[in-house]
Amino acid sequence: MFELGDIVQMKKPHACGTNRWEVTRVGADIKIKCLGCGHLVMLTRRDFTKKLKKVLLPAAEVDPEQEPQYVRPAPLQRP
Ligand SMILES: [Zn+2]
Repeated sequence: MFELGDIVQMKKPHACGTNRWEVTRVGADIKIKCLGCGHLVMLTRRDFTKKLKKVLLPAAEVDPEQEPQYVRPAPLQRP
């Protein structure tokens, strides 16, 4: 399973050579952002599930200071 804000690994790396993606939108379609270059990719949920290799880091454990491209989703922000 995956959640908004998770960092995931796909079966194929992005063209830039990075295989770390942030899940930036979860709905009927899934949007992921390459953490190497910031490129956005939109996939259907079915495609995403097919291409997902594994969740590298759950959203709650991501340290945004270590991930320049990472944007913490609003619902996870804590005071
Ligand atoms: Zn990339």
